[in-house]
Amino acid sequence: MKAAPFTLLTPASLDQAINILNKNPTFSKLMAGSQSIGPMLNLRLTQPENLILLRNLKELREVADCKESIFIGAGITHAEIEDKKILDPSRGLMASVAANIAYRAVRNFGTIGGSLAHADPASDWVNLMQLLDARFVIAGPKSKREVTSKQFMLAAFTTTLEDDEILLGVKIKKLSDGAKFGYFKFCRKVGEFAEAIGAVLIDSELGIRRAIIGATAGTPFLVKNIDAVLKGDAEEIKQAVIQAGCTDEYEFQMHKIALERALLQAKL
Ligand SMILES: Cc1cc2nc3c(=O)[nH]c(=O)nc-3n(C[C@H](O)[C@H](O)[C@H](O)COP(=O)(O)OP(=O)(O)OC[C@H]3O[C@@H](n4cnc5c(N)ncnc54)[C@H](O)[C@@H]3O)c2cc1C
Repeated sequence: MKAAPFTLLTPASLDQAINILNKNPTFSKLMAGSQSIGPMLNLRLTQPENLILLRNLKELREVADCKESIFIGAGITHAEIEDKKILDPSRGLMASVAANIAYRAVRNFGTIGGSLAHADPASDWVNLMQLLDARFVIAGPKSKREVTSKQFMLAAFTTTLEDDEILLGVKIKKLSDGAKFGYFKFCRKVGEFAEAIGAVLIDSELGIRRAIIGATAGTPFLVKNIDAVLKGDAEEIKQAVIQAGCTDEYEFQMHKIALERALLQAKL
């Protein structure tokens, strides 16, 4: 199948892009790396009149050192993060996660912002941003606003973005020297989405003790019984996976083992 006819618009600035969206929100759709929206257009799951190309917008390509955090523009590609071409707040964690997103052709085009706006629960950035407690910077017709990762993703494929808003980028706290982390995902073969994700972060200097159970049916699950889970208590790990909604036996095993392997990687 091929995409339904649409007009491709190539705004020269963020303001222009927001103006187009604002005038015709119902029939316009944004396109960044096209790795998710491309297939959706071809399957006619989405049939916008206007397709607004974000690739040329320099505002989305900004990377900035904000003292305690790094701002990463929505238009930065997975490959640029993998290749460590931008400032890294995460001591290598983001680069290693990026390197395992699909294969290089997808990583060359796909962007961190496109992935977050798409909000697939199995997406790597969706889960990692929750682990890193990133703040999301959003631009609208009148002003900018900032929300937490929890406030940004509301449900599977659903975010807080209004029809006339664009995700500008994410602010991620710089981890300290002694930060320990682990990130493990199960996927059947390269290029397929994760069936289960487990992720762990401990940064004593920043007071962070966090674990995520991801690639569930909804938003990334922030483990509540964190102290017991970080100690590796088998019963508490089981309870965390059940609380994350993974009760089917197969799903349960995949998520439990993903979390255990992330704990092992973090060498706790
Ligand atoms: C074969 C294959 C395998 C994949 N495997 C993985 C994987 O293992 N892990 C993983 O995490 N991902 C995977 N992906 C998804 C990939 O990472 C995509 O790059 C990503 O989901 C979308 O990014 P994009 O820049 O291509 O966005 P697009 O496809 O261009 O856009 C996606 C959606 O986000 C919206 N959007 C884009 N940018 C913005 C913005 N700045 N503000 C507001 N809305 C915006 C668009 O309107 C659209 O609705 C895979 C994709 C393919 C094709």
